[in-house]
Amino acid sequence: LTSSDPISNHQICVCVRKRPMNRKEVNKKDVDVLTVPNRENVIVHEPKLKVDLTKYLENQNFRFDYAFDENATNEMVYRYTAKPLVECIFEGGMATCFAYGQTGSGKTHTMGGDFATKGQQDCAKGIYCLAARDVFKLLHTKYKKSELKVSSSFFEIYSGKVFDLLNKKAKLRVLEDHKQQVQVVGIKEEPIDNADDVLRLIQHGNLVRTSGQTSANQHSSRSHAVFQIILRRKNTNKLFGKFSLIDLAGNERGADTSSSDRQTRMEGAEINKSLLALKEVIRALNRKGAHQPFRASKLTQVLRDSFIGDNSRTCMIAMISPGMSCCEHTLNTLRYADRVKEL
Ligand code: ADP
Ligand code: MG
Repeated sequence: LTSSDPISNHQICVCVRKRPMNRKEVNKKDVDVLTVPNRENVIVHEPKLKVDLTKYLENQNFRFDYAFDENATNEMVYRYTAKPLVECIFEGGMATCFAYGQTGSGKTHTMGGDFATKGQQDCAKGIYCLAARDVFKLLHTKYKKSELKVSSSFFEIYSGKVFDLLNKKAKLRVLEDHKQQVQVVGIKEEPIDNADDVLRLIQHGNLVRTSGQTSANQHSSRSHAVFQIILRRKNTNKLFGKFSLIDLAGNERGADTSSSDRQTRMEGAEINKSLLALKEVIRALNRKGAHQPFRASKLTQVLRDSFIGDNSRTCMIAMISPGMSCCEHTLNTLRYADRVKEL
């Protein structure tokens, strides 16, 4: 495990990952409008019309800490995003890694939550599992005298409510005490001893997450999934460090606020609110004393303790779909990520 990658020194790292065109897009004659010319830039070739109705492409360039093209593997993405954050939790820190983007852009594929359709192999290659594997590697080598134990929780935030994916989607209450310590009451924290345990846990949580879901009513695209790897002291059980890995709701759902369906509209408003609050909270990380609107959404409230303290590190992976049909959403995603990065 190396922490010598240059971006590991940043408190906030923002990356972008382009997924490959899929068969459906190719069949529909959708065109790839994204180029990743090097390891930092992505260019969107947006189709536009001149006043005289001739077509042209407007090229918009975005620069990030890392840009991954369609040939990048999860392993590579992991190496430059979540991996440099793993060691921080052994030093008593809090680490957070977000997958952001529109539905279908590759968030779940990257994080490793695609067990229902892709099976165990896919899950094992996701960032949840890769991070857990490295946690055990460190625990058994460099930190073997540390007297720390590992556990995990896995929950979902849907329409501003928290559901336990390790306990039959039990609805959980979130309480804040007078010291603004946030507690998710009764959340299941499963002890884990090795990487195989983690894989089983993630698969179980994934199945619970997607059960009863039809493709037309994709519940999971409207919820944030939060998988946490928790370090506690063996003797006192006191929290030591925590790594939160988050598969965010599809950002295009935030635009559902004009839907004719009331439920959809409310869910959309909630998603919008949480993604905006998240952006502000992350941006404030680098500006000491800046206001962090934790209470503005359940997502930021629940993650509060991951953002305060001197030893918190965050990484965001903006996922983008290559097709021309997704161009507008892709630009929205890139602009959001750009704002998160900007100091
Ligand atoms: P999201 O979670 O953002 O809605 P998914 O992760 O479910 O998107 O991805 C949509 C589809 O595209 C899935 O079938 C997934 O396996 C596939 N996919 C996503 N990213 C990649 C990638 N980098 N390489 C190959 N297939 C991918
Ligand atoms: Mg998904």
